Amino acid sequence: MDANHKLPRPVYGDSPVYQMAVLQLLTVAEHINLDQNILERLSKPKRALIVGVPIRMDDGKTNTFIGYRVQHSLTSGPSKGGLRYHPSVDLGEVAALAMWMSWKCAIMNLPFGGAKGGIACDPDKLSMGEKERLTRRFTEEIFPIIGPRMDVPAPDLGTDEQTMAWIMDTYSMAVGYACPEIVTGKPVELGGCVGRREATGRGVVYCIMQALAEIGISPANATAAVQGFGNVGAITCHELSLRGVKIIAVSDRYGATANPQGIDVAALSKHVGSGKLLKDFAGGREIDPDDILTMECTVLVPAALERQITEKNAGQLKCRILAEGANGPTTPDADKLLNQSDIFIIPDVLCNAGGVTVSYFEWVQDMQQFFWDEAQVNQKLETLMLKAFHQVRSLAKERTIPMRMAALSLGVQKVAQEKKRRGLYP
Ligand code: NAD
Repeated sequence: MDANHKLPRPVYGDSPVYQMAVLQLLTVAEHINLDQNILERLSKPKRALIVGVPIRMDDGKTNTFIGYRVQHSLTSGPSKGGLRYHPSVDLGEVAALAMWMSWKCAIMNLPFGGAKGGIACDPDKLSMGEKERLTRRFTEEIFPIIGPRMDVPAPDLGTDEQTMAWIMDTYSMAVGYACPEIVTGKPVELGGCVGRREATGRGVVYCIMQALAEIGISPANATAAVQGFGNVGAITCHELSLRGVKIIAVSDRYGATANPQGIDVAALSKHVGSGKLLKDFAGGREIDPDDILTMECTVLVPAALERQITEKNAGQLKCRILAEGANGPTTPDADKLLNQSDIFIIPDVLCNAGGVTVSYFEWVQDMQQFFWDEAQVNQKLETLMLKAFHQVRSLAKERTIPMRMAALSLGVQKVAQEKKRRGLYP
């Protein structure tokens, strides 16, 4: 039966991203024959808070931004998930991202549920002072539902270590003691974990290396095109080129650059870091950003926004491996088309799980006030990523199902089992 028929009324708005997350869940539930009572509980977030965040702008006017925090599941431990600053943020998008975090934490066997937060704003148009006031006031507004054992935010699109430092400080001032374990992805000097900033991109690359080995292409003969040059995209480019993969095209929200001989990633990072536009990079030629997705390459890495690969362009992809660094870059309609191709898909809930994995390491270290070195962090990250990759791969082969279905089956099943064991309160 087509899972589309069972889509619930859009409680979380008619957001296409939320519909996409629920549709995925329904499809997986059918595949694993999930108990309907458990499905009923998993298909709706546990808790959502919408807040008005008024701040004084630099010009003296007051603006009220809308912020969200959604906790999908608190069954397995505190909820965990990033905080996104982007103009498109709405309740449905945040709810979808929170649900995906639940499956991701379960696939990685981390003692967390899924959460996500965000503020509808354009961080590129805010001054540092405005961003700080926005972050501090937002922290105050969501204070009742966050905590080291309740919900632990982290960076995501448009937020970074500095954002986490402001949250940590605001929360610590409110509780009266330094509380680094309230957020992950903080600066190292505030209790952050070495290697956290690079963790998502590194995890993406660990998965890509496994996929390359399976399809029999050596990194030195591989090329990659990467959409997005922020935290995930830039580190992915850097780690791929360290392993000999040629980066032939990169894009960001303002444009794209390509070089069939290979882009010098360190030089591109320096160029962008100095405030210049990526598309103006002298070591490449400006191209249409839409061409990145359909360009001939070994590895395509969407590392920006959701819903980039749709039924419109899925048939035109010319990559051998699709490594989903971003959350939700492929729509279910596109997925159906891709599943008929021989593209090796590394689904988002597995591919970009390195970030939350090292966030888990950071939380554990903060709780114990006992810190690891970067070699330990990277080695533990690689061990957990490879274990999850091979579990998903084995299930996909055993049942002859797509990688996404295998990954989501493992994640949903684990959360479902925990819910069943705990029972329904009261
Ligand atoms: P970021 O803000 O650091 O970077 C985002 C990049 O995407 C920027 O280069 C931006 O210019 C680019 N971008 C925005 N709109 C674009 C468009 N329309 N076309 C091309 N590029 C565009 O964000 P990030 O942390 O790298 O997150 C990127 C994705 O990875 C998001 O989907 C996020 O949810 C996901 N993710 C991030 C982490 C993490 O640890 N940061 C972990 C897991 C998943």
